[in-house]
Amino acid sequence: MEAVYILGAFIIIVLLVVRRSRKKSNKKKLAVPQNYVELLAQTVPYYQRLSTPEKSRFAASVKEFLETVHIEGVKTSAEPMDCVLIAAAAVIPSFGFENWKYFNLTNIILYPGAFDEEYRLDGERRPIAGMVGSGALNGQMLLSRPSVRAGFFDIHGKHNTAVHEFVHLLDKADGIVDGVPEKFLRHAATEEWEQIVQHEIGLIERGESDINSYGAVNHGEFLAVSAEYFFQQPARLKEEHPELYRMLSLIFNQQLA
Ligand SMILES: [Zn+2]
Repeated sequence: MEAVYILGAFIIIVLLVVRRSRKKSNKKKLAVPQNYVELLAQTVPYYQRLSTPEKSRFAASVKEFLETVHIEGVKTSAEPMDCVLIAAAAVIPSFGFENWKYFNLTNIILYPGAFDEEYRLDGERRPIAGMVGSGALNGQMLLSRPSVRAGFFDIHGKHNTAVHEFVHLLDKADGIVDGVPEKFLRHAATEEWEQIVQHEIGLIERGESDINSYGAVNHGEFLAVSAEYFFQQPARLKEEHPELYRMLSLIFNQQLA
């Protein structure tokens, strides 16, 4: 009788091992669009401004990002262009940090439009174009496709939703989204940064600033919103807000204007 049990257990183990190895071989390698360099050249203004060696480094980082982070569509499919734009948005704010990896991100969920707090796509009030997940959604990022595309196609604008969300992730690299990215800002400079943030938020609240008023919500949002401006319109930011420009250059380790 015992032999029957042992044989039974053996068969179950063999079946489990076979199933597991099948599952493994079914797991697709994440897709990198074949024409990703061409797509970057056509659609990403930040990339177009880089020197030839920088372009190679940028493209390599985009490829690596797409090989490690899964992008999936909900009620839509993520097209090659969407994947390349999202990866570019990931690389832009981290380009000053050699070999940076988003260790706090595994998955990106792309929605066909803006959504609400319950991730619904059908209500009239859908205020969210992108978010970094927390709690059960830790390691996930949610993005609305039209907002991702607008961030790259509206070349005169100051907004880029996907860059905004990746800046939150960089801010979160020290454990908390609080607008003080301690991993990238020397401790001595944090006080100066806080003073500039206070000053700029005051200007927004008094209606005396051209920075998106959402930046006045809290310091985390201020960092993300002003970073969008920095990466989209560096020369304008430098002219309008020289101190802010200087601090953002320091934080992201990039001179853009
Ligand atoms: Zn935000």
